[in-house]
Amino acid sequence: MRKKILVVGVGGLGCPVSLVLAEAGVETLGLMDPDKVELSNLHRQVLYSEADLGRPKVEAASDYLKKHHPKVKTNLVPNAFAPQNAEKIFSQYDLVIDGLDRLEKKFILNDWCVKLGIPYVHAGVVKFEGQVLPVLPGKTACLRCLIPKIPPPFAMPTCQEAGVLGSFSQAIGYFQAHEALRLAEGRGPFRLWKMDIQKKEARSIIPGRNPDCEACGQGKVERDMVSAQCEA
Ligand SMILES: [Zn+2]
Repeated sequence: MRKKILVVGVGGLGCPVSLVLAEAGVETLGLMDPDKVELSNLHRQVLYSEADLGRPKVEAASDYLKKHHPKVKTNLVPNAFAPQNAEKIFSQYDLVIDGLDRLEKKFILNDWCVKLGIPYVHAGVVKFEGQVLPVLPGKTACLRCLIPKIPPPFAMPTCQEAGVLGSFSQAIGYFQAHEALRLAEGRGPFRLWKMDIQKKEARSIIPGRNPDCEACGQGKVERDMVSAQCEA
């Protein structure tokens, strides 16, 4: 598949997503993450082993992917996602994967993808609940259509804080990759998927766009997106 896909955050979600995209024959994978491999990552971040401890995640991930899928090209971006670098980096890709941890960063990623018209796939996992939303800017609902305002910083726990089952976060990551491939091929309909493994429920809807959405609707506001709050 002659596509360039950027994976923002090569952690619990980004690892399985990268693996599936490489297996599927995606031409170029951008791997964006500033962190180094830690022991606590290993149980749910499938690209890393004990031999990688202390290495930059983007290097270890790239080595694993290229070893198993030699045709894939990787671009290593060892930077934290920030409003200041979003436009320059995102505009080099056909599609973006949200593998970020913090909810406030997910909104900023949403806003930049919508502004630049780049399709992306949101996913999030907290404890026993996970969700996946493919977004085709201007055509389907974006994250801000569903939740209009960014929650205050650190209002939502990250999956690490809330505790997350390694197998579940990987399952959501694999599902996110599946939706990314569908999105890359333009195969709708694009649905919001929600799963709760404690209640043993999975459901999906086609969410309507919010006409007043501040990112993609008539309520679109011209704001200083570069200065948006996004502390690492
Ligand atoms: Zn929207």
